[in-house]
Amino acid sequence: MALYVMKFGGSSVGDTERMQRVARRIIEKQQEGNQVVVVVSAMGDTTDDLIDQAKLLSKEPPAREMDMLMTTGEQISIAMLSIALQAMGAQAVSYTGWQAGFRTEAVHGKARITDIQPERVLKSLEAGNIVIVAGFQGMTEEGEITTFGRGGSDTTAVALAAATHADCCEIYTDVDGIYSTDPRIVKNARKLNEISYDEMLELANLGAAVLHPRAVEYAKLHQVRLVVRSSFNNNEGTVVKEEVKMEQGVVVSGIAYDKNVARISILGVSHVPGVLAKVFGSLAESKIDVDIIVQSGVQDGKADFSFTVALSDCDKALKVLEQIRGALPYDKVTSEEGLVKVSIVGAGMVSHPGVAAQMFEVISKQGVNIVMVSTSEIKVSCVIDGSKLNEVITALHSAYGLDTENTAFVGGPQDRR
Ligand code: ASP
Ligand code: MG
Repeated sequence: MALYVMKFGGSSVGDTERMQRVARRIIEKQQEGNQVVVVVSAMGDTTDDLIDQAKLLSKEPPAREMDMLMTTGEQISIAMLSIALQAMGAQAVSYTGWQAGFRTEAVHGKARITDIQPERVLKSLEAGNIVIVAGFQGMTEEGEITTFGRGGSDTTAVALAAATHADCCEIYTDVDGIYSTDPRIVKNARKLNEISYDEMLELANLGAAVLHPRAVEYAKLHQVRLVVRSSFNNNEGTVVKEEVKMEQGVVVSGIAYDKNVARISILGVSHVPGVLAKVFGSLAESKIDVDIIVQSGVQDGKADFSFTVALSDCDKALKVLEQIRGALPYDKVTSEEGLVKVSIVGAGMVSHPGVAAQMFEVISKQGVNIVMVSTSEIKVSCVIDGSKLNEVITALHSAYGLDTENTAFVGGPQDRR
């Protein structure tokens, strides 16, 4: 008997009718002779709605209470799905994240999983149940409720698959799989049959919202076979795995973009050892991720540097910089919004020089300035002005030979956020 973890995103369980469709799909999987663990997200836009409501009460609601609030969304889903399954005659039981054994570090809003004790889940499976687990939540050593960050239910699914030694983790969503780029922007985007963990990790980190980056990290670490597919049809989806066959001549597999970027510049900092350590140490202490860092020339013993953070962290980062101003004098700090980070990703890049140069060329032909660049072995990212995003992505997509005649894009709006 094989063990499957099936994860359904918010739009797949958006209303009771969809919930019933999902329930039928789960029962089918079980009737094929499998054991099934199900992970669900909050129904539809529940998480967003809860956040909006909290913001009506407070500009900055306390992170602990936000976790308390947001985790209710997934609790509704698991109970509803279990009710639907049992109404169809199936044997099912629902568990919150902590009941399912998810322990996390003591950070609200983006906690990492420290341990999973899946005994209860396994026992319920053995007893013949379909086990339903609430996504994106866990509990600290001290018994505090935490969440894994937006989109974190994918991580719940993959982590459970690893902990229970499942044969496969299927992520059901409202698109057919992983696309070469966002099909809402490029109508010739193609669905990929397979992609490597590393490429997927880059794409997810760089803004492709179909999979939560930590889920991919986890899948790679534990070699979990991951399939991303639609909950609205039976198409095959995209397999994410270690090694994939490289198509002849394809150096770029996918193009991602991220509008959630802001650039912060610190001007006129003394050019002495320890400056970067102080700035980025303080930001890290406040759990602010910094992405691209660029230091420009030194003049009169003073340096300027710029870095990017998530737009949503920008205000917080500016506050941190204000706080350290006493210890680290600088002339001024500026921040810039309206930017977007466009990235090309492909395992084939390593052995093909000139891939980055081609990207710069394509972007410049669109008359767009490149503000910052960062590269790794399998990706090149450019931060550009956001106003011509669609033109840039469309041009890159065809320049790297990714266009296809296949325009079949099935599904509604993206599952996330
Ligand atoms: N409901 C949470 C969110 O909307 C977690 C998830 O969907 O994965 O971010
Ligand atoms: Mg959601």
